[in-house]
Amino acid sequence: MKAPQKTDILIVDDTPENLVVMEGVLECPEYNLIKARSGDEALALMLKNDFALAILDVQMPGMDGFETAELMRGSERTKHIPIIFVTAISKDDEHVFKGYDTGAVDYIFKPFEPHVLRAKVKVFYEMYLQKKQLEVLNKEMSKMINGLEDANRKILEQQKSVIEEERLKVLLQFAGATAHELNQPLMGMMGNIELMRLDRSSPDVTRQYVSRIEESAARMSRIIQKIQTIKYDQTTPYPGGTKIIDIEQKINILVADDKEKNFEDLKSMICINKNLTLKNCSSLKSALQMLKISDFDLILFKFKLPDGNGFDMLDIMRRDSIDTPLIMITDIGNELTALKIIQAGAYDYLKKGSITGEILINAIMNTLEKARLKKQVESTYKRMVDISTRDDLTGLYNRRYFLECLKREYARARRYETGLILCMLDIDEFQAINNAYGHQAGDKVLAELGSMLIKSVRTIDVACRYGGEEFALILPHTDISDAHALLERFRQTVLSYSFQCNSSRVNITVSTGIAKYKASDDQCSLNLIKKAEKALMTAKEKGRNITIVSDE
Ligand code: GH3
Ligand code: MG
Ligand code: MG
Repeated sequence: MKAPQKTDILIVDDTPENLVVMEGVLECPEYNLIKARSGDEALALMLKNDFALAILDVQMPGMDGFETAELMRGSERTKHIPIIFVTAISKDDEHVFKGYDTGAVDYIFKPFEPHVLRAKVKVFYEMYLQKKQLEVLNKEMSKMINGLEDANRKILEQQKSVIEEERLKVLLQFAGATAHELNQPLMGMMGNIELMRLDRSSPDVTRQYVSRIEESAARMSRIIQKIQTIKYDQTTPYPGGTKIIDIEQKINILVADDKEKNFEDLKSMICINKNLTLKNCSSLKSALQMLKISDFDLILFKFKLPDGNGFDMLDIMRRDSIDTPLIMITDIGNELTALKIIQAGAYDYLKKGSITGEILINAIMNTLEKARLKKQVESTYKRMVDISTRDDLTGLYNRRYFLECLKREYARARRYETGLILCMLDIDEFQAINNAYGHQAGDKVLAELGSMLIKSVRTIDVACRYGGEEFALILPHTDISDAHALLERFRQTVLSYSFQCNSSRVNITVSTGIAKYKASDDQCSLNLIKKAEKALMTAKEKGRNITIVSDE
């Protein structure tokens, strides 16, 4: 192990015997005693070593102790070394030391008591150790601050790239979902063209194929329309530094700061920009109230307010879903807090005392841009989820979502042994409606039936458009008799309702097949679909407008 470093102490006396005596008194493992015979020699040594203390004989030929001390005070390297003067002058002449009374100076009279000298030296030695420790701590602190500043910068940069990445992810997912959506009608269209090519038996048959091709084309056109509206919203990525936020737009900023002066300072910093309006409040509570009554684009929040700090504010905002972007104003040197603030959801932070007009406006613009991008990502994501899970004609869930959901409910029923019912519902003779009133009228009937269906089920039930004029219902925690009652009620509702087709009121009927999940014989969710479809087929065979429960 490395031996603890000794501390250098300088002893200056022109009499060699005195140096030997002093050395004998002070000798101990902690001190490295270095001797000098004159003021000159002492000053030269001080330039080489880092002394914790200089013990100076006052009376020396040539340069005396006081003169040596004067010269020490004149140099940056030596002026902080504490001094103990050793002198033979009487205690009555203490006034000669008056000039040295301030700072780290002490004196001792010859002949001195060894324990008094030892005690005085020890005091300075300990002071020196403390000073060294503080220096080390200071160095570590500034290293840490630099590190944190770096980390903060990186976090802010990362936030920006995460938004870009998120945007790309959304676009890719969206492209995938769209391709999937388009695939179904496209396959239908190609299949019908192929059938039409093979089967030219009569103009009626050809008309049927054409009608189905038209239907697929209409679906594709609706999907494309949706994509076009999404595209309309998107802004092109911007080159670094350029702001998409329009500097001309009116921006309302809420400044939460309990010192009027701080608010006035911020206001005067941005007064050149007439579009920024600042309003002041002095507590966390009043900030929340103001956010409730007026619209703000941004909050500048002083970290410490009388009734709470920045973390409290960010917590409440998260809890109450307040998404106004917030910039925190922190004390200088509080980098650790600043880092946590960003992690807690603040968009940026500014250090009090180092804010200028340019820094402030930049932070405001960057934050608004970040908030705008975040909102855009969120809404695009929501629309994308909608597009990939909903059927656009009826607003019901689509087939893809249905299959995923059925798998999930099936696993749940299996695990918790709860009831699960699947119903397949089909409009009877729907082709006739299309033939008589046209495809668009048929579409309206489908859409209307979709909303009737959604109104007839509970919130935990899942109503889907399985395809064409076929619908599916997933009824969790349900038994056969309840499901049968529900579907019978729905059948009656449809039966007694007349749909508007062009200028006519038209009645339709529906057939339904119901299947119940049975742990003993259902190995996978597709089995359940087969059972329900079979029951539906039986319903059709039995003359339609009927609800059949699978007997499997
Ligand atoms: P069934 O009682 O046996 O079910 O007779 P159906 O005519 O209802 O059944 P079929 O399967 O023979 O025909 C279904 C028809 O539904 C043909 C198709 O053009 C129409 N259809 C499917 N999807 C849509 C759509 O999105 N819009 C319109 N208008 N019609 C559709
Ligand atoms: Mg049908
Ligand atoms: Mg059908």
